[in-house]
Amino acid sequence: MSAFLNGWRYYRLGRDDYKVCMEAAFLNNISALRWANLVFFILAILFSVFPVITEKNFIKSGFYLGTAVVALLFYFIANRENSRYKNRKKISSKFIYILILLYYVNVMFFGLYLAVWAEPEKIAGSFIGIFICVLFLFNISPALYLSLTLATLAVYITAIINVKIPSVWNYDIQNAFFAGFMGLIFGWQIIMSRMTTISNTKKLKDENTIDELTQLKNRRDYMTTFQRFLTNHRQSDNFLCVAIMDIDWFKNYNDHYGHPQGDECLRMIGKALKNLHKDGIYTARIGGEEFALLWHAELSSDAENVGMRVNQIISDLKIPHEKSNAAPYITVSIGIHVAKCDIPHEINDLYNLADKALYAAKNSGRNCTVVSS
Ligand code: GH3
Ligand code: MG
Ligand code: MG
Repeated sequence: MSAFLNGWRYYRLGRDDYKVCMEAAFLNNISALRWANLVFFILAILFSVFPVITEKNFIKSGFYLGTAVVALLFYFIANRENSRYKNRKKISSKFIYILILLYYVNVMFFGLYLAVWAEPEKIAGSFIGIFICVLFLFNISPALYLSLTLATLAVYITAIINVKIPSVWNYDIQNAFFAGFMGLIFGWQIIMSRMTTISNTKKLKDENTIDELTQLKNRRDYMTTFQRFLTNHRQSDNFLCVAIMDIDWFKNYNDHYGHPQGDECLRMIGKALKNLHKDGIYTARIGGEEFALLWHAELSSDAENVGMRVNQIISDLKIPHEKSNAAPYITVSIGIHVAKCDIPHEINDLYNLADKALYAAKNSGRNCTVVSS
């Protein structure tokens, strides 16, 4: 249950932030891999001793020793990658994937060994325990993590229900619970430390990219996001909409209602703009009373509708503005430039074109949207 809740909280961090912080979380993956293999090594060594003492079974013992050697090897590899990462050397992700693959093969052989040499009933417990550990270590996306956790739970319950032989039942339940317990403890630790890393990275990032007053993204974030919007969709035949929005007669507002009330107005507008995020529209405050919006559209004609909708959203706030010549409440003017994604563009060119459109909106009576393409 706790694993499930953790998965959910993990998911709630949001996909974008998750991706951004993935690199930081990667360090934890490697670190967890290191510790898991050390524990695996110690356990395998212990297991290799018992068959010799109790049943003089050297073959069984040899299998455990083999597993121990592999675990130790993985420990050293992960250790090396860990320090490389800390020294800011780039880790090849291909290498890590091979490592994970090898790890799975190792676990599979271990399971195969159990199936052949041990009583089949014991497999359920041991294998599920390993499965839980591995899954906690290598959950690649939160959704995958959630579904695998549920699947494991199902396998777990089925295994317990299906073991009907009374003599092995006790032993197997013990085994399964021990493995599950270990898996949960390890998993809990790993997930918690990973989540801390992710939220710390996110906090650090937020401090640098959030505008204090409106809690929207700031100019710095706008520039990097703009670049990402340009490069990420080079191949698509969609349109990139670059919009700049400016409050109408805001100097008058400040002069009449005072600067603190002006700030309050900016905050309210920021809150309203934030809601656009769920429609895939990026918003930022890029200057005093200037905001920027970015989004992708399949049709260039969609741009004007979005602009007009934003005009509506702001005027619907009905923030009284006695000194505006456009309306008795706060309104905005919006300039949008629509560019084709598959043509290379410069940020400055697009920005200037959108600014020109804004200028045209100001000249055609304000409280409106002008689109250029
Ligand atoms: P227009 O419709 O042509 O845009 O007229 P305007 O008065 O809005 O244009 P102008 O650019 O002359 O005025 C912008 C004003 O925005 C000036 C300043 O008082 C106000 N302003 C800029 N940043 C802030 C801020 O952080 N807080 C407050 N309260 N006001 C700000
Ligand atoms: Mg202005
Ligand atoms: Mg203005």
